[in-house]
Amino acid sequence: MRGQNYPLFFDYCGPWSGTAAMSGTLKIIGLGPGSAGLITPDVKDALETATDAIGYFPYVARVIERSGLTIHGSDNRVELQRAKQALELAGEGRHVVVVSSGDPGVFAMASAVFEAVENGPLSWRELDISVLPGITAMLAAAARLGAPLGHDFCVINLSDNLKPWSIIETRLRLAMEADFAMAFYNPRSKARPEGFEKALDLLKSACEKERLIMFARAVSTPEESLLTVALSDATPDMADMRTMVLLGSRQTRLISRENAAPIVYTPRSMR
Ligand code: SAH
Repeated sequence: MRGQNYPLFFDYCGPWSGTAAMSGTLKIIGLGPGSAGLITPDVKDALETATDAIGYFPYVARVIERSGLTIHGSDNRVELQRAKQALELAGEGRHVVVVSSGDPGVFAMASAVFEAVENGPLSWRELDISVLPGITAMLAAAARLGAPLGHDFCVINLSDNLKPWSIIETRLRLAMEADFAMAFYNPRSKARPEGFEKALDLLKSACEKERLIMFARAVSTPEESLLTVALSDATPDMADMRTMVLLGSRQTRLISRENAAPIVYTPRSMR
């Protein structure tokens, strides 16, 4: 545990957020995958009462402007800086929302805020901080396709910006060995087009040819597209940064339909 001393037991049974020694609040919220209908009522309330909204430019662009709300957009790679700005504003008594797409705890801002809290001034631990969940892209994609994640599955971020590629490779190998269905976030970006090709080659080398692989792009937006193919027919250009890639397990099945997209599902039982 990185040499830290943690108490073994906590006797605190109330809500885990701080007791608002200062009157500001910080809500780390998830805007869902795209459509307004997939934003939770709690997140809508938080947006309506915030004084400041902080986030990556394309995400804060989804926040409706209104008087009394200041919008602070920032670049992709400055997560910690953004987290600190949010904590400082909450410390000054503002009502801050930090916005992520999907769910804020899935490859997003909640961890960045807590990293800043852990390493920042002790007063930040007293702030009233809460995480409001959102519908993550993986679940929205799975729902559009049928129920491909209906049995055991695992989730891997294919970006090697924040971890070495060797970790991704090890996790892919072990997940294939365990026959998990898999959900891949951040499959491919312009900056690292070769990563997804390597991942696909690895999957093809260890899975049978007919294994189902799904590409769900821009789910719940007007640009949505869905594609299901056999793994042997999958090519790297089927994914981009707006795509969720789902790989079936050995049990995952496809129901074809005459006049509608196929349904992909993984049975509940392996017996
Ligand atoms: N916190 C977000 C994930 C951020 S990582 C969440 O919970 O959804 C960004 C990645 O999420 C993208 O590269 C893509 O793989 C996926 N993603 C986000 N929105 C998506 C959407 N509407 N459709 C498909 N994939 C999406």
